[in-house]
Amino acid sequence: MNRYIFALFLYLLVGSYCSLIAQDTIDECGVTLEEADLTAAYKHFEAAKEASLNRQDYDCQTIPLRLVFFRRTWDEEWSLPYEEVIQESSQVLAEMGIELVLTEAPITVIDNDLGYLSSRNSSDIAEMNEYVEPGVLTVFVPTKVSGGFFLEICGYGNFPWSEERNIVISSSCFDSATLLHEFGHYFGLFHTHQYSFGLEKVDGTNCNKTGDLLCDTPADPDLRSDVNDSCIYTGTSTDYDGAQYEPDLTLYMSYSLRDCRSTFSPQQVSIMKYFIARECENSWTFVDEPYVRIFPNPASDYLFIMADFDTELYLMDIRGNRYFVPDYKYSFFNLDKRMVTIPSNLRPGVYFLHIFSNEVSYKEVIRLVIQ
Ligand SMILES: [Zn+2]
Repeated sequence: MNRYIFALFLYLLVGSYCSLIAQDTIDECGVTLEEADLTAAYKHFEAAKEASLNRQDYDCQTIPLRLVFFRRTWDEEWSLPYEEVIQESSQVLAEMGIELVLTEAPITVIDNDLGYLSSRNSSDIAEMNEYVEPGVLTVFVPTKVSGGFFLEICGYGNFPWSEERNIVISSSCFDSATLLHEFGHYFGLFHTHQYSFGLEKVDGTNCNKTGDLLCDTPADPDLRSDVNDSCIYTGTSTDYDGAQYEPDLTLYMSYSLRDCRSTFSPQQVSIMKYFIARECENSWTFVDEPYVRIFPNPASDYLFIMADFDTELYLMDIRGNRYFVPDYKYSFFNLDKRMVTIPSNLRPGVYFLHIFSNEVSYKEVIRLVIQ
């Protein structure tokens, strides 16, 4: 069997199996926050939140858009109502003062890859990067998008602080709800059901530091399969206080049914505008200074640490007595090691938390109130 026939045979065998498997398992969005990305995501998002609070007007809110269709040699031909989709999306963004402009006719690339386009495949990334230009939003639309082993996804949008800058949407999911959802990720937004920073409580008391880190999007338990055709929430799950969720089914960044999604919250709009301005002003560089944050402060039972690197710490009271936190060694790669239990024998009062790392010669003293 020569190489070509073997490749074709393999394609028929694997391809038909994949399409059988993938038929009912197409996942909404492939954007996840991997453990290693968590601190960068937190750091850049918090900076955007702070900066966008003090800034209302942005001169630079125009996004040039380029569409690149990817078809494999053996895919059936497809065509998309792309002008309609771009127009619908532009109208939604125009209401927020953001202009989306398709600058050229879509480019069609025919390639002979065996697999579907994947963000995990370096040759796919290299192929896409040929069409990426700074300051232009490039949306790739392949026949299908692979999200890993036998998993088909609708698409993904890379965060502003990511190395890759693009949006990828499968041809079968290419509608304005999906485009605006991925657009949200591309300009800095998380899913409303994001849980990597901790679970957001229904009463909103921890909304600033958990969930999607925004307080005007209610706690969301992940709406996939919990919304009916009349856009009514049918889920019954509760948060860890036992409170019933009351999610907002209209938010683009949720997994509500696509037809039910129609809005971004005011804070979500601020974050997007901040990142759009950065991209548009071409100042796309992020300062890479050592980053350490602790919360809550005042604290009572525990303390949560966010840092760019592995750290160690000890506590000192105002008389200069040292208290070592037992078994603590922060690990950037281990989420469980980011929470510190405050020793119960410590009296309430003011302490100084010494955080240090020999690895990057870092030392900082933070005033900590223990209640
Ligand atoms: Zn998403």
